[in-house]
Amino acid sequence: MNSDSPIAMLDVAAQNAPLAEELRAVFARVLESGRFILGPEVTAFEAEVAELVGVSHALGVSSGTDALLVALMALGVGAGDEVITTPFTFFATAGSIARLGAKPVFVDIDPVSFNLDVAAVEAAITPRTRAILPVHLFGQPCDMRALGDIAKRHSLALVEDAAQALGATTEDGSTGSLGDFGCFSFFPSKNLGGFGDGGLVTTNDAELYERARVLRGHGAKPKYFHALVGGNFRIDALMAALLRVKLPHLADYTAGRRANAARYDALFAEADLGERLVAPKCVEEGHVYNQYVIRTSERDELAAHLAERGISTAIYYPKSLHEQACFADLGYATGAFPESERATREVLALPIYGELPEASIERVAAEVVAFCAG
Ligand SMILES: *Cc1c(COP(=O)(O)O)cnc(C)c1O
Repeated sequence: MNSDSPIAMLDVAAQNAPLAEELRAVFARVLESGRFILGPEVTAFEAEVAELVGVSHALGVSSGTDALLVALMALGVGAGDEVITTPFTFFATAGSIARLGAKPVFVDIDPVSFNLDVAAVEAAITPRTRAILPVHLFGQPCDMRALGDIAKRHSLALVEDAAQALGATTEDGSTGSLGDFGCFSFFPSKNLGGFGDGGLVTTNDAELYERARVLRGHGAKPKYFHALVGGNFRIDALMAALLRVKLPHLADYTAGRRANAARYDALFAEADLGERLVAPKCVEEGHVYNQYVIRTSERDELAAHLAERGISTAIYYPKSLHEQACFADLGYATGAFPESERATREVLALPIYGELPEASIERVAAEVVAFCAG
């Protein structure tokens, strides 16, 4: 590869190209079957993901956003309820709470893991709290043992936003198996990247599964008889069929991400730039590195420096959710969550996808170090 060819954040084609023939065959199979809505491909995909996550039930849905929505709906979250979550996440986490008429109650993050500050969660509980919605941000599992403990003591539901953490593990099991529901996304940039939108919910609770399943199809049970108001939250049969081709390779994709993260870690540790360049800390070994996020006080300048050299980066996330215009009526002031706000100013995600060659990792690291040392 040319030493100054561009380095992208993601190259979906690099991951899909080796499977192209198989994917085309699956497309042909679904085309010929004429089964486009639910059916055997969806059922098989659900069973395969349930096995991977280590849960008794999985339900394919239309997106990660709808996974969150269906999970919260199945738990009966609605008007007047509070759901405790993080302000440093993708919008869908809090958006799905608000869409049900419930109130997102934000608490600050731990600056090392970027995940919910567990002590702050307990302090935010009120008589209206119904659920806790932690996010395994960037693929690093939250402290689910502590959160599970809090949920149990206060009789709260626990929903994992595992959109960035398929395949991540803890001592107690995989992400998505540690709460009442796990919510996953197959958006192309996620660890199991699909061919459009798709999502999935996991649970070990047969009753919750059944409610979620019914809600996925407009709450109908049987067809045309509605005890609940649901929606159309179905995953496409074609999407499920195509994802089944990629699922057996997830462990390899994850290994690639981890190897790239380890290479960055080593190069940044060697440079030893202190606060000028803070590499992400892996506090949970089962981290799957959906993103590799560094922090530096000169973030925007570093991003520009890298862009000039053909290196793409991304900012996850540039604005804390408590400061979003649509949440103004929640009444949070700037300064309410200093760690989340500081993170929005300092974080920069570097290319990490598994197919990225080691030489590219080295070029990115060298440019980051050169800038931060200069
Ligand atoms: C991607 C993502 C979602 C939403 O998933 P979609 O499939 O894009 O709807 C929710 N939460 C987090 C943390 C995400 O990263």
